[in-house]
Amino acid sequence: MDKGLIILIEDEYQMRRFLRITLQGHGYKVFEATTGQNGLTEVATRNPDVVLLDLGLPDIDGLEVTKRLREWTQLPIIIISARDQEDDKIKTLDAGADDYLTKPFGAGELMARIRVAMRHSSKQNSMIEESVFSISNLKVDLAKRQVFLNNKEVHLTPIEYKLFTVLIKHAGKVITHNMLMKEVWGASYVNQTHYLRIYMAQLRHKLEADPARPCFFINEPGIGYRFKIDID
Ligand code: CA
Repeated sequence: MDKGLIILIEDEYQMRRFLRITLQGHGYKVFEATTGQNGLTEVATRNPDVVLLDLGLPDIDGLEVTKRLREWTQLPIIIISARDQEDDKIKTLDAGADDYLTKPFGAGELMARIRVAMRHSSKQNSMIEESVFSISNLKVDLAKRQVFLNNKEVHLTPIEYKLFTVLIKHAGKVITHNMLMKEVWGASYVNQTHYLRIYMAQLRHKLEADPARPCFFINEPGIGYRFKIDID
């Protein structure tokens, strides 16, 4: 059973051991690196499906590793870190990490996040091939700029549509307030996050069955929003 290849970049022996046993037990192949520099080399030479990356590394910081990886690859990066400050999460997500797990975490949660990362990478590939994105009762024809809910067309304003497409372009990932403001309104609006709240409420109102309990447009308090694709 080979579910995929994971590169683990982590300097702490105990943590590496726990992760290796867990991942191998679930059918993943694991390669390990104990420094950022080695990690970068491993990723470049082994073409993994997912990278698990610690932030506190002996040579270069995990944030820097993320930035360097994003210069050439879009493969899923999951940060595993003892740092639980909002600021660290925002910085690494802005740098292009897909997800952030705070240590200590359980094997169950880790495996769930990895499954999402794997699904997301295949989702994204199929999105590039076909211009129609659909999930559950929602459908978007990106070429025609049409949105359907339960097969009925829903009219979105240009800003709502833009916000919606930025979210689905990164479906499954947390997108920070900053990134959303920059992509939808432009760099000079990054502090106007109340716009985001207003337009997110409008999108939920138009596209969620129950806007008060959203299934798709998920708030990540203090960080940003995520378009949820792992709908049960
Ligand atoms: Ca460390």
